[in-house]
Amino acid sequence: MEIVLPGSELRIVPRKIICVGQNYARHAAEMNSTVPEEPILFLKPPTALIGPGETVLLPPQSREVHHEVELVAVIGREGKHIPESEALDYVAGYALGLDMTARDLQLKAKKAGHPWTVAKGFDTFAPLGPIVPATAVPDPQRVQLRLRVNGTVRQDGNTVDMVFSVARLIAYCSEIFTLQPGDLLFTGTPEGVGPVQDGDVLVAESDVLPAFQVNVRRA
Ligand code: MG
Repeated sequence: MEIVLPGSELRIVPRKIICVGQNYARHAAEMNSTVPEEPILFLKPPTALIGPGETVLLPPQSREVHHEVELVAVIGREGKHIPESEALDYVAGYALGLDMTARDLQLKAKKAGHPWTVAKGFDTFAPLGPIVPATAVPDPQRVQLRLRVNGTVRQDGNTVDMVFSVARLIAYCSEIFTLQPGDLLFTGTPEGVGPVQDGDVLVAESDVLPAFQVNVRRA
């Protein structure tokens, strides 16, 4: 899927989708995990991306796929070794996103000490909402994130509760990866994650970001 980078009319297929695990204390607790001392990173393939109105496909390999609503930062320019104080200058825009997760496969991988690639990487497992310019978000650490399943609120958190701020995450990631225009950073989910079923309608909402909807179907 191509995205349009705010500030340029550049249409681009994101080359990296970087995701952060357990970046909210109450979500770490509901996963029976402790709050991490440094960011936990994993990647999703760009083939996982879908847009508003599209369909999340439940793969036959999993019996328990969870929703995780997240703030997504869209990187606007290339950077490496980015200081935290300048990190937000590298953000072209923000969006709501869903880090769809095959929780049963993730728990099995965790127990075995294996990576989360399969649990997080299926096609359609990275729904992304409309991207707004970074200037439309005065403070990325004051963004309400809400997720409704068939109209019922399941997650309702605020980015003020992140363990590692967006700026800290960008600085940290840039010590590992060269960040490139169009890269997406999924910044972690607040508490309230849970399973989705065939036929569900998911709506992600925020006070400052445009809402979007995806449907859920068995693959
Ligand atoms: Mg997540």
